[in-house]
Amino acid sequence: MHVGVVGAGYVGLVAAVGLAAAGHDTAVAEADPAKLAALREGRVPFYEPGLQEWLDSVAARMTFVESAGSLPPCDVVLIAVGTPSGPSGQTDLTQVRQAVREVAATARPGTVVAMKSTVPPGTGLELVRAYLEPAGRDLAYVSNPEFLREGKAVDDWLHPDRVVVGAAEPGAGERVAELYRHLGAPLLMTDITSAEMVKYASNALLATKISFINEIANVCELVGAHIDDVARGVGMDPRLGSHFLQAGIGYGGSCFPKDTRALDFTAALNGYSFELLTAVIEVNRRQRIRVVQRLHEALGGLAGRSVAVLGLSFKPGTDDTRESPGVEIARMLAGAGAEVRAYDPVARLSQEAEQVLGPGARRTATLAEAVAGAQAVVVATEWQEFREADWAAVRRAMERPWVIFDGRNCLDGEAMESLGFTYFAVGRQVGR
Ligand code: NAD
Repeated sequence: MHVGVVGAGYVGLVAAVGLAAAGHDTAVAEADPAKLAALREGRVPFYEPGLQEWLDSVAARMTFVESAGSLPPCDVVLIAVGTPSGPSGQTDLTQVRQAVREVAATARPGTVVAMKSTVPPGTGLELVRAYLEPAGRDLAYVSNPEFLREGKAVDDWLHPDRVVVGAAEPGAGERVAELYRHLGAPLLMTDITSAEMVKYASNALLATKISFINEIANVCELVGAHIDDVARGVGMDPRLGSHFLQAGIGYGGSCFPKDTRALDFTAALNGYSFELLTAVIEVNRRQRIRVVQRLHEALGGLAGRSVAVLGLSFKPGTDDTRESPGVEIARMLAGAGAEVRAYDPVARLSQEAEQVLGPGARRTATLAEAVAGAQAVVVATEWQEFREADWAAVRRAMERPWVIFDGRNCLDGEAMESLGFTYFAVGRQVGR
């Protein structure tokens, strides 16, 4: 098929490369001139393991253009533009509307527009009414939510748990399903709004698991239980599953925070108060504040204290710092007067993101530079480099009282204590 993809971010570029690898002629529209220039030179403009090599192998079947309106005639156009949060938690659909408008104005009759961006339930039908029907060229709309994870995007694309296709016309849905058939994944065919809801329900349930285990961990601290064993025991029940039971400083990234807020907002907009989801969001917010509160206590105040934050990407394996706990904790600490040095092995901090870090926080090029003279260290992302660090050397480079907050429960607490650290984690008993 001839496939167009609008937006060459984590989702769009992985999808485009995956479809080119499956033998489709793939054209990608990317509005950001810097990203477009990189792609035209054959470079992936962000960090995603394995993607560069994969792109290299299929580049001959791919073209890159500057706008959706410049795409060649396509059988299917996938929309994979950003859907960030608006100020009240609602989804900002500006990029989606713009992309669909451009496609509707230029696509040849019969083109199928497949939405891979995460858009709130009801959006697809609204886009059809607002842009596709008025175009009068028999353009079909399909909701085709994406479930890949940053850091594992290539593997997730090749081995999806399921493919969800929501369509009003079976023929259009079939055409999109055809793109995935070679992957052999289970297929759910449904209507547009239900497909949109699958994505939000999935992310909300995963976020719920995280907030739930974090609350259990917080209670473990009070009653003297060990979250590592508790989570292991809970996860042995196949009805519950062992995934997403890792206690810590909460979820972040470009999906869970905004998607939980968007579902909460959509429910409210439709007259429903989604109490459980509201609590999940609030628990996640407080989980980050607990770190700051702990350090405040342990250091006897934060003003003038020197704190190293290790990890700025929202999880290992990605350079994405959107809504990252590490960035927010660095900001909160700096806001409370601490001198913050932050280090991450790959996090991509644009000039804008450096500003996000705040005036009291400085990025360092190495772990050693971040911890030198620090009184406390926060591990905010469980990068392998931090697990394997020479913690004895770190302790020597630091100043009293040698506090460490292991926000991902990824270090050996007893070993840390024996090195002289005052060790805090989430739901663990060491150090208390
Ligand atoms: P991203 O911000 O990394 O990429 C979006 C890209 O679209 C940007 O490069 C932007 O310049 C480009 N763009 C915006 N408007 C454009 C236009 N009119 N024409 C051409 N290019 C345009 O976003 P992402 O992380 O890839 O996410 C895309 C969507 O997929 C979002 O709705 C997100 O919620 C969803 N999603 C993301 C992930 C993930 O792990 N990142 C997983 C599943 C679903």
